[in-house]
Amino acid sequence: MKEKFASRIALVIGGSRGIGRAVALRLARSGFDIWLAYHSNHEAAQEVHSLIRQMGRACELMAFDIADLQASKNALEKRSEDNPPDVVVYNAGITRDNLLVWMTKEEWDMVLRTNLDGFYNVVHTVIFAMLREKRGRIVVISSASGQIGQAGQVNYSASKAGLIGAVKALAREVARKNIYVNVVAPGVIDTEMSQDLPKDRILPLIPLQRFGTAEEVAAVVDFLCTEPLMYIHGQVIGVNGGLVL
Ligand code: NDP
Repeated sequence: MKEKFASRIALVIGGSRGIGRAVALRLARSGFDIWLAYHSNHEAAQEVHSLIRQMGRACELMAFDIADLQASKNALEKRSEDNPPDVVVYNAGITRDNLLVWMTKEEWDMVLRTNLDGFYNVVHTVIFAMLREKRGRIVVISSASGQIGQAGQVNYSASKAGLIGAVKALAREVARKNIYVNVVAPGVIDTEMSQDLPKDRILPLIPLQRFGTAEEVAAVVDFLCTEPLMYIHGQVIGVNGGLVL
């Protein structure tokens, strides 16, 4: 499924569903060709692929587990050396919720290896080629849970707070190479991940009194990836309806 890329490339990690899907479609609309990375839901990825092709943009699908360094390298190393992405949206993430007192080591490891190690596995693999180009935008999707903590999500909050620290440090490293790095921290967004949340208990905590949409997150990501007048760097932008103030 290799296609020729003539224009700007956006690598969207976790682009098959939810927020990543909306980001991939939005960036395609903004004129990017898309490298769409996902884990295993080929049907969902194929659907996004078709929609992007209908917009007249190229789309390359790549299925791998971001928790696996070698798999990440296999998928991205050669590609980005040949053709460095202009934009990287590190969006994939998982939850394995439990109170810490009941949390198994597997639940801890699974979330940290995917959400936080995945950042290293992906960004480390592509950053050298991006530095060589001396331009680029990286947006990392964290969570309100990483900003203020969420009971039942000690593993997830740790991984998402870790991403914020990683981005702030990376922002200091790569600024002089004209690479902008920022975090988008969604609140509760209506996707498969949030399907089982107790809506009646959560809504009173959100000043806007509703869950957000994936498209509302994608609009902010698109701005950070495309706006030419850019002085936002190393920041955490909340998209949360006022949940975190
Ligand atoms: P979804 O569960 O809807 O989609 C997750 C995406 O990540 C899918 O494309 C999935 O691929 C991919 N993915 C999951 N695990 C891996 C892996 N090991 N390797 C590669 N790809 C993987 O999630 P959301 O859209 O809801 O969330 C997207 C991001 O936003 C996550 O980081 C999440 O933590 C964060 N977030 C979400 C909130 C919400 O309320 N929904 C709130 C705050 C933050 P596949 O389809 O193949 O499984």
